[in-house]
Amino acid sequence: MAEFTMELSDEQKEVRDWLHGFAADVIRPAAAEWDEREETPWPVIQEAAKVGIYSLDFYAQQYFDSTGLGIPMAMEELFWGDAGIALSIVGTGLAAVGVLANGTEEQIGTWIPQMYGDANDVKVAAFCSSEPDAGSDVASMRTRAVYDEAKDEWVLNGTKTWATNGGIANVHVVVAVVDPDLGSKGHASFIVPPATPGLSQGQKFKKHGIRASHTAEVVLDNVRVPGSCLLGGKEKLDARLARAREKAKKGGERVKNAAMATFEASRPAVGAMAVGTARAAYEVALEYAQTREQFGRPIIDNQGVAFQLADMRTSIDAARLLVWRASWMAINGKPFTAAEGSMSKLFASETAKKVTAQAVQILGGNGYTREYPVERMHRDSAIYTIFEGTSEIQRLVIARTLAGMPIR
Ligand SMILES: Cc1cc2nc3c(=O)[nH]c(=O)nc-3n(C[C@H](O)[C@H](O)[C@H](O)COP(=O)(O)OP(=O)(O)OC[C@H]3O[C@@H](n4cnc5c(N)ncnc54)[C@H](O)[C@@H]3O)c2cc1C
Repeated sequence: MAEFTMELSDEQKEVRDWLHGFAADVIRPAAAEWDEREETPWPVIQEAAKVGIYSLDFYAQQYFDSTGLGIPMAMEELFWGDAGIALSIVGTGLAAVGVLANGTEEQIGTWIPQMYGDANDVKVAAFCSSEPDAGSDVASMRTRAVYDEAKDEWVLNGTKTWATNGGIANVHVVVAVVDPDLGSKGHASFIVPPATPGLSQGQKFKKHGIRASHTAEVVLDNVRVPGSCLLGGKEKLDARLARAREKAKKGGERVKNAAMATFEASRPAVGAMAVGTARAAYEVALEYAQTREQFGRPIIDNQGVAFQLADMRTSIDAARLLVWRASWMAINGKPFTAAEGSMSKLFASETAKKVTAQAVQILGGNGYTREYPVERMHRDSAIYTIFEGTSEIQRLVIARTLAGMPIR
């Protein structure tokens, strides 16, 4: 286990500064354009691929940083550049993690390279879990996967919604129900390979923020995938279902929801994204407050403005510390006995919403226009309290964990 220190290593600082440079020189200057276009910023993703930021190798290296700080630092810097573009760059990672967590070595080797493509022909991937009637309540998912034994194929039917990169992805990872009697224990994940007949994009959403990130419905109409596309394989699934049926038969046994546990470890990364957006807005507001003069002096000379900046910076630093603590716990296998992962996501996302609103206020009329980036950052920040579990769901998870109650 890494010894605790608040000091970043030289190597960590180097990576952070390199990412910051990319965010400042490539992402930030492109932010307003892609926000207006509401399209996937392919040229920026390609630039990221050329320098090695858009690749599994890069994220794997960050993930295995023994302090746990590699991923949160990367997220904070990229999202400091721009949230919509950064999500377009890291969104594929959601699907890749789905395969890494549940797939066999062969599946990892086959599908992850196809998710990213290469610098000359970049691809993206989508992770499709949410449905119109199954958002926070994942267990009410309806998309069905039925095994056709004669052909060794799975047949998928249903409608997914809110999928980042849905429909434009080269590879889709789809979560579906294989045993409706088992609730979320009866779910399994499938790879839908490129150009599989029956998978189509439904509505593409026009969003409030993170508009450079593509979000759409994904319709699955008799989508047939080979048996080898079931993540983890049939034997493992059958054994898992048998165990779940056995537990269900015994009844009353409190089983911690595995999906919730996985989210608990991944939530600090979303918290770090929120810290990046909050920090970006705070920096713009600080500079503006020091240069904008009213009543013959910079507006920061008024306590009403200065104290807001003090509170903004304090909350951002507190949010980062919660994110870093949870990330350190995750990589070192510490149990989240107080739902520390959810705590970090809850506090950082609420901080981003508050801080970006304060930044708009400090910039006055300018803050309300698209001439200044805080307007976009304020819109972007609203996503953090919604995806990967809303703030209410984080509170529910924290409260139930503290009370020793089952999550569902
Ligand atoms: C831009 C964007 C990108 C996304 N990307 C993906 C993706 O790539 N893949 C994917 O699978 N999903 C994705 N999502 C889906 C996202 O995770 C869901 O939107 C989120 O989980 C909330 O579900 P919902 O929208 O159905 O809201 P609901 O679950 O309907 O919630 C509505 C409101 O009710 C509250 N609520 C619900 N249940 C409770 C409760 N028990 N107690 C208190 N309050 C409650 C919620 O907190 C919320 O305020 C994305 C969403 C967005 C907006």
